[in-house]
Amino acid sequence: MAEIFVVVEHRKGEVREITYQMLWKAHDLCQKLSHRLTAVLIGGIDEPFLKRIEERADRVIAVEGEEGKHFNGELYKEILSGLIQENRPFLTLIGQTPWGMDFAPALSIKTGYPLATDCVDVLVANGQPKVVRQIYNGKLFSKVSLKEAEGYLVTIRSGAFPSDKVGERKAEVIKKKIPAGLPEMKRQFMAFEETGAGAVDITQAELLISVGRGVGEAEKIPPVKELADRMKGMLSCSRPVVDKNWLPKYHQVGTSGKSVKPKIYFALGISGAFQHIAGITGAGTIIAVNKDKKAPIFRVAHYGVVEDLFKIVEALKAKLG
Ligand SMILES: Cc1cc2nc3c(=O)[nH]c(=O)nc-3n(C[C@H](O)[C@H](O)[C@H](O)COP(=O)(O)OP(=O)(O)OC[C@H]3O[C@@H](n4cnc5c(N)ncnc54)[C@H](O)[C@@H]3O)c2cc1C
Repeated sequence: MAEIFVVVEHRKGEVREITYQMLWKAHDLCQKLSHRLTAVLIGGIDEPFLKRIEERADRVIAVEGEEGKHFNGELYKEILSGLIQENRPFLTLIGQTPWGMDFAPALSIKTGYPLATDCVDVLVANGQPKVVRQIYNGKLFSKVSLKEAEGYLVTIRSGAFPSDKVGERKAEVIKKKIPAGLPEMKRQFMAFEETGAGAVDITQAELLISVGRGVGEAEKIPPVKELADRMKGMLSCSRPVVDKNWLPKYHQVGTSGKSVKPKIYFALGISGAFQHIAGITGAGTIIAVNKDKKAPIFRVAHYGVVEDLFKIVEALKAKLG
């Protein structure tokens, strides 16, 4: 039976959100294509999250063994290539995460299955997958066809699909041992090092001053940070600001960043894409400043100013004295 594999990503007893997002997408595709949904879990069979995976798949292939307790890209590549050879899944969904990016290219070479990375959607027509990717800094979406093959590997960008939807399935759990005779691993798990919430934890802020791509360049962020400090708020941002390395990731609001719930949220030079808005649904009052009066942010803002954000920043600073 044709099937879709989803590689479960888990760490320290918790499933990463990306897994549930991929399971939701796989569920949707399996329903349309009458395929079987198989979650592949390496390590973690005894973890409480197994139940939540079972609700979202038709089968869980649980591969057990001491070496599988902690992520090791080489081991994942070996185990997954064996399972792919055995089961020949039509699609294998992998997170576009440090884990997925570690082993997916090697898995593609080992299995001969083409790989599409950083995809935000997967469409299937006439038995052929097409993936959707963002280009030109996220301004355009492109549909990409893959070289015809027996199966395909796709890495999925975090935040592309909802994670809270359950497909109402009931998986059979198939236990397997890590195969004997695998090549000796050149890498070994040493220890976890926590990075913490970052220098700031925006999820706890009561006032957030958020900057978007409209801020223009990294050098223009300090005056906004100064305003945030003077108002006893915190600085946050949209995703492009992080992608451009203008601010560290822990400042990012949105589906692939953090959900925030400040009493007041300033959106400065942020257009209001749904991936951003999803992160501020818990905010009290939203105040948007944007040069473009048609910017979608004005549809959700309680107060809006059509103006250059720097003029407003300076005006607020002047008011504060
Ligand atoms: C899977 C996936 C996950 C994503 N996750 C996130 C996420 O977590 N968070 C997130 O934010 N995005 C996320 N995105 C990206 C999202 O789709 C948008 O591309 C992004 O939110 C746009 O950021 P922006 O509003 O800063 O930039 P833009 O859309 O480029 O908007 C910039 C705005 O600034 C205005 N502007 C320009 N100059 C000025 C000025 N001087 N003064 C005032 N206004 C000005 C412009 O009119 C424009 O409206 C995700 C996308 C995908 C596909």
